[in-house]
Amino acid sequence: MDRRSLLKKLLLSPFMLPSLSVFAQDRPSLPAHHGENGFINTDPNFSEAGISELAPWIIKKLPEMFSAGVKIEIPREYNDGSVYKENRPYTATWIGHSTVLVQMEGITFITDPVWSNRVGPFKWTGSVRVSDPGLSMEKLPPIDFVLISHNHYDHLDESTIEDIVDRNPKVKFFVPLRVRDWFEERGIRNVEELDWWEGATFNGLKIVCTPAQHFSGRWLNDKNQTLWCSYAVFGKKRFYFGGDSGYCSHFKDIGKSFGPFDLALIPIGAYEPRRLMSPVHMNPDEAVETFIDVRAKKMIGIHWGTFVLTDEPMDLPPKRMAEVAVEKQLSKDDLWALKLGEMREW
Ligand code: ZN
Ligand code: ZN
Repeated sequence: MDRRSLLKKLLLSPFMLPSLSVFAQDRPSLPAHHGENGFINTDPNFSEAGISELAPWIIKKLPEMFSAGVKIEIPREYNDGSVYKENRPYTATWIGHSTVLVQMEGITFITDPVWSNRVGPFKWTGSVRVSDPGLSMEKLPPIDFVLISHNHYDHLDESTIEDIVDRNPKVKFFVPLRVRDWFEERGIRNVEELDWWEGATFNGLKIVCTPAQHFSGRWLNDKNQTLWCSYAVFGKKRFYFGGDSGYCSHFKDIGKSFGPFDLALIPIGAYEPRRLMSPVHMNPDEAVETFIDVRAKKMIGIHWGTFVLTDEPMDLPPKRMAEVAVEKQLSKDDLWALKLGEMREW
């Protein structure tokens, strides 16, 4: 999208954002993250691990992709869904991994919904779910829209999406560029595709697709052919969903343009070994930096305790997050690691 149509789309929005100056800056006709052979990360410090570094680790992890997996104990709170019948203006419920149910000013949405027991290209292979979802699909309140951050299997899950559409025929999906095709192939048409810094509206809420530092792909031949992103959602309060991301300079830009956020969902898991993971997944220390950069008042640590993706112990991310809060003299009460199924007001 060129600069003129980008600006037009933004200015057509029904209410002004806190700072539109970011959109008025000179942008090349093709944004920097649109590479010749797919989308690219633009932070000058981004340095992806090479295949020669990745291959031995992938080979070591292969048996896990086929194993049945063992359930682990992640703190859990009973939730039968009845709490959503009360009209609370701002709630967030951690269902597992990056799946969070959010109520915001009468609208209910969900981030990267995944209920499957295994995430991968086939039902018999892929990362195994080691903790059950905190809320069953049957107990969900009606869903108005879904935010999808990118097309990795642990964020875009076919059977979950089909279930959500079956139960919520009018549900709308916001997805980053080139992810709409995946939905259309499955006959799902209520999908709005956004580029970084593009905005959309939904019944009085404003949704802006914001950058992240990551990658995409569902098979061997589609790396970075679709975009990855984070999202800001504005009503009377401000909400941020960090998607999947390495630590990068985008967060300060997002904080400057759209902060302070009342609540931010920030990934804290899937970060070891660091040399391989740090370009694309942050550790809890970096997640807390991100919390500061985006100028959030509260954060929920997500992307942990659910799927075995990397080498750190499954229950370590929230423990480390709490330590970092102490080291940085932040209030532990502002950095939340929710129990599975736990709902909090924000
Ligand atoms: Zn990912
Ligand atoms: Zn992920």
